[in-house]
Amino acid sequence: MALIPKNHPRAKSLFIREKLIDGFDDGIVAKEGLLAHGRGEAFDYLLGEKTTHIAKNAIKAASAALLLAKNSVISVNGNIAALSAKEIVKLARIVHAKIEVNLFYTNDIRKRNIVKLLKKNGAKEVLGLDLKLQKRIPKLDSARRVVDKDGIFSADVVLVPIEDGDRTIALKKFGKKVITFDLNPLSRTAQTAHITIVDNATRGMSELVVCCSRLSSKNETVLKKILRGFDNKNNLRMNILEIKKNLSRRASHV
Ligand code: ATP
Ligand code: MG
Repeated sequence: MALIPKNHPRAKSLFIREKLIDGFDDGIVAKEGLLAHGRGEAFDYLLGEKTTHIAKNAIKAASAALLLAKNSVISVNGNIAALSAKEIVKLARIVHAKIEVNLFYTNDIRKRNIVKLLKKNGAKEVLGLDLKLQKRIPKLDSARRVVDKDGIFSADVVLVPIEDGDRTIALKKFGKKVITFDLNPLSRTAQTAHITIVDNATRGMSELVVCCSRLSSKNETVLKKILRGFDNKNNLRMNILEIKKNLSRRASHV
């Protein structure tokens, strides 16, 4: 890992980059994943590189949705595996979700590496490798539509962090309740998902784990009320305005 001085103004952001670079060297992250992260970083910069109260609201709604789900699945790609393997396993345990490795740039070796990493972090079962269980999401082109019969295919709620828009749209059309982490409130994924957490997945996943464990003792009525009180469009609007507010403040201090 490169030496990053702790007092560097972008230290945290640089540490996250190093995690992804290590993930790339270990055959977990795709080249394209490194670039996708860059797009995310730019929005993180504009949002102030912190979990806003707006994101916290979305995290609360996502927690309620995951706890209410009958059959939830966490969809794991290279980026989220490299950034949050421990949190994925913790979250799955708390909300009784399945874990499925599902790659946009599909590649069997990378899939196996991700499964290995998740198991090293305590995952008991990881779906997505068994060819006999492969099913297809309708209205999505070839490799990207393959999902596990016992995982995403039959889920009611899916968490798809750092996901592509086409896939999010297809999952929604297929009747899934979609929760995502996406730093860009303007992306198709952000605009399509039922619950969009506009936060860096590295920070947001830890918050989600804490929030789920805090709400896990609440009954269905309380959880349903939280969910009903959440409006994704309004939350996205507030995120866009937060960026505008940050930019206006910076503009007056140049
Ligand atoms: P879409 O396909 O949804 O329109 P896009 O084509 O602009 O979006 P993709 O590369 O398909 O982007 O998806 C990656 C998305 O993940 C981007 O919107 C990016 O902002 C976001 N992203 C990247 N890294 C992170 C991260 N660490 N945490 C949260 N979001 C991230
Ligand atoms: Mg895309």
